[in-house]
Amino acid sequence: MNTPSQASPAPERGGRPQPLLVVRDLKKHFPVRDSGFGGPRKFVHAVDGVNFSVPKGKTLGIVGESGCGKSTTARLVARLMPADAGSLIFDGEGVAEFRGLHLKEFRRKLQMVFQDSFASLNPRLTIAETVAYGPRVHGTPAAKAMQQARELLDRVGLDAANFANRYPHELSGGQRQRVNIARALAYDPQLVILDEAVAALDKSVQAQVLNLLQELKAERGLTYLFISHDLHVVHYLSDYVMVMYLGQVIETGPVERIYGHTAHPYTRALLSAVPSMDPARRTEASPLAGDPPNPINPPSGCRFRDRCPRAHAVCADRAPELAAIHGAPEHFAACHLNDTASGHPDAGQEFSA
Ligand code: SF4
Repeated sequence: MNTPSQASPAPERGGRPQPLLVVRDLKKHFPVRDSGFGGPRKFVHAVDGVNFSVPKGKTLGIVGESGCGKSTTARLVARLMPADAGSLIFDGEGVAEFRGLHLKEFRRKLQMVFQDSFASLNPRLTIAETVAYGPRVHGTPAAKAMQQARELLDRVGLDAANFANRYPHELSGGQRQRVNIARALAYDPQLVILDEAVAALDKSVQAQVLNLLQELKAERGLTYLFISHDLHVVHYLSDYVMVMYLGQVIETGPVERIYGHTAHPYTRALLSAVPSMDPARRTEASPLAGDPPNPINPPSGCRFRDRCPRAHAVCADRAPELAAIHGAPEHFAACHLNDTASGHPDAGQEFSA
C-alpha cells in the first residue's frame, strides 16, 4: 500500500499492482443541528484528513470502534454523500470530474454490500429479478440479464432452480447476503465495498460467506474495501489493514505486520480485546478503557491521549504525524513513541503498551 503522502496512481515498484483507488486528505464534518443560540456553529469531525490507497486485486480492511469514521469514509468513496474536501482517484482518473455516462460507469464499477441484507433488497422483486435489475438498467436485454442472474445465483451457492423465483422474506440472512453479493457481481465491478457485510451472520454462515468472498476475489480479480469491527474477520480477508480513531487514520500496513508488530497503543488495545487461540499472538496490553472523546470537540494533540496508558505532555501539545515505522516501509503509525525526535521520553524504546 502506498504511503499516505506518496499516494499516487503511478506504477508501484517491486512488481506490486497499481492502486485502483487513491484517497487524499478526505474530510467530512457534519453540522450539529442544535449548536446553541448565538454561538459558533458546531461540527462532528466524522472524517478528518484521511489518506490511503488500495492496490488492484487486494483487500484493505478498515477497523475501529463505532463512530471512528470507517463507514462514512466508505460512503464518501462511493459518492453516496459529498465530501467537504479531498480527492478520489479511481483507476488513474479523478472521480470529481466524472459526469453523465462517466459517472454512471464509475457507479457500475464500484458496488457496495451492506450489513442489513433485508433492507438492501426490494421486497417486491424475486431474487432473480433483483440480480438482473442492474444489467437491465445498463442495457442488457431482459432474457440475457435473467440468464446471467441465474448463473450468478448458482455461483454464490444459491441453486437457481430452487431460489430464482423466491422473494427476500423467504430467505435466511445468509442466503439474502449471497443475493446481495450476486447483485453486486452482476454489475461486473472492480471495487466492492463490504460495509459490515458479515456482521449480522452467525459464525458458521459468516465463515461460508467469507470463503465465497475470497474465491470471488481470486476468480475475478476483485478489489475489496472491507469495513468491520471484528478483527478476526479482517485478519482473514485483508491484505492490508487501516485502523481509524475519531475520524483519522492512526495505523496502517500489511495485515501480518499490523497483527504481529503493532506500533500504536490503540491498535494494541483493540487486538488485546480479541481472544486468540495462538499464544504467540496474545498481547499483554490492557483492553480499552472509557469511551472515545466527543467528535465535536476532539482533544488537542493526539486524539487518543485521554485513553492512552503511554500519554505524555508532548501528546497534548502536538498531534503525531502518520509516519513510516523504521525498517518497515509499508507500515505507518501516528504516535510519538515511534519518533525519537518527538520529545516523548519513551520514544524509540521497544514498544509495549
Ligand atoms: Fe499515546 Fe502519545 Fe502515542 Fe497518542 S502519541 S498514542 S497519547 S503515546
